[in-house]
Amino acid sequence: MTITEKELKDNSLPMNDFRIYFDNAATTAMSPEVLEAMLPYMTQHFGNPSSIYSYGRETRLAVENARKSVAKILGVKPGSVFFTSGGTESNNTAIAASIRDLGCDHIITSPIEHHAVLHTVEHYGHTANVEVSYVALKEDGHINLEDLELQLAKQTGEGRKCLVSLMHANNEIGVLLPIKKVGELGQKYKAIFHSDCVQTVGHYPINLSEIHVHFISASSHKFHGPKGVGILYVNEDINIKPFIFGGGQERNMRAGTENVYGIVGFARALEIAMQDYEKESSYIRDLKLYMANQLKQYIPGVSFNCGADALYTVLSVCFPRTDRSEFLLMNLDINNICASGGSACSSGADAGSHVMKALKKDDRYATVRFSFSKYNTKEEVDRVVEKLKELV
Ligand code: PLP
Repeated sequence: MTITEKELKDNSLPMNDFRIYFDNAATTAMSPEVLEAMLPYMTQHFGNPSSIYSYGRETRLAVENARKSVAKILGVKPGSVFFTSGGTESNNTAIAASIRDLGCDHIITSPIEHHAVLHTVEHYGHTANVEVSYVALKEDGHINLEDLELQLAKQTGEGRKCLVSLMHANNEIGVLLPIKKVGELGQKYKAIFHSDCVQTVGHYPINLSEIHVHFISASSHKFHGPKGVGILYVNEDINIKPFIFGGGQERNMRAGTENVYGIVGFARALEIAMQDYEKESSYIRDLKLYMANQLKQYIPGVSFNCGADALYTVLSVCFPRTDRSEFLLMNLDINNICASGGSACSSGADAGSHVMKALKKDDRYATVRFSFSKYNTKEEVDRVVEKLKELV
């Protein structure tokens, strides 16, 4: 069975839906080209990559070609790329392996990491002989590099081995880490450095051969690939033990029959993202700027949580808290506009955002994160701003 271009497009949500999807930092719609690359591995190429006959050889080749392609884009050797079930698994694995296999007994992280890092760090901080400390943040969410260096110097001076786990871009406010500088500091203090790059792989060209980093995590559903597939990059200078025991898949590191079509989708999505990077990133950046300017013009008292150098896909907006803006997200949803919260308030069942709390954001504001993709348009921005004029 083959699928026509039209059928692919008709089934693709962002091109054929009345709703406005401005929550691309949560997940993105899979692109028709990615689905097209995956489909044969859901149908005729169904073999188990571990089988020695032709069906198996076909899917083995697809997995290894995907690995080569991802590795080339990231500037590393294929042997350092492991396919996983996504960003959460990759983050968990990097942190667990640093403690279990690399002798780390002190973790330096930040209070605005994704829960896939924060909760993992808290877990090891409670159970193992591991201490955790949090790097100081500047008001805008950037880490304080001097504080990071002080902490590294203190811990290593006391004979501890540090794991530094800091995300490349924050998923709520888009603040970017100076990843090269952090890598250099890590190297100076012989620390292990893990970076959650879930919001940046597929959105920026990243050459890992130029960065002193031991682990990075990425997830394909953030750049128009399928859900449930990610990578963990493991620097070849370190040796870690298997993360899942069983068969010999992923060079004995992660047992279990490979998610072949997911892996093919990951690689295809990354190839497309990087091949179109210049065009798409400037399109999305313009869209974000346009929305910020429209909001400034039409919504009195609006302000932004992200600086000019933040991730170009994310616009985190503070609306003055009024009786109406209290229910902003719900009202946006009722009006078929999908966006995310990020509020410091912790009323009712809403625990509020740990990022806003860590940054001590004033809860006189209602925070909404709008995040964009290549499928969004200026017309959508106009419609959202029109609605916001009524809702705030
Ligand atoms: N890290 C960051 C920064 C994220 O934004 C996300 C996704 O929400 C994750 C990790 C988790 O990734 P996944 O959904 O692939 O498990």
